[in-house]
Amino acid sequence: MQERKKYGKKRCKFCDMKIDYISYKDLETLKLGVSERFKIMPSRLTGTCKKHQEALSKAVKRARAAALIPYIVDRKNVVESPFDKIKPLHK
Ligand SMILES: [Zn+2]
Repeated sequence: MQERKKYGKKRCKFCDMKIDYISYKDLETLKLGVSERFKIMPSRLTGTCKKHQEALSKAVKRARAAALIPYIVDRKNVVESPFDKIKPLHK
């Protein structure tokens, strides 16, 4: 029996999916590495390996600069989030 934590099993999702390069345009992939408030998830929670964590944080920062994902998500104002369809937020 495996104990499931909040973020699931600790394994690098990007290695699992055999992703070498994380594009900032690939929101589906970026979504794996950010919280619902678009913060970059720390690898100690997600189990992302160092290589992918670094690639991810670069990609997320670029995506922010390109306005693909917001820098800050207001708790009351999350409706404009492009991820809403995938993961609906309440509040
Ligand atoms: Zn990896």
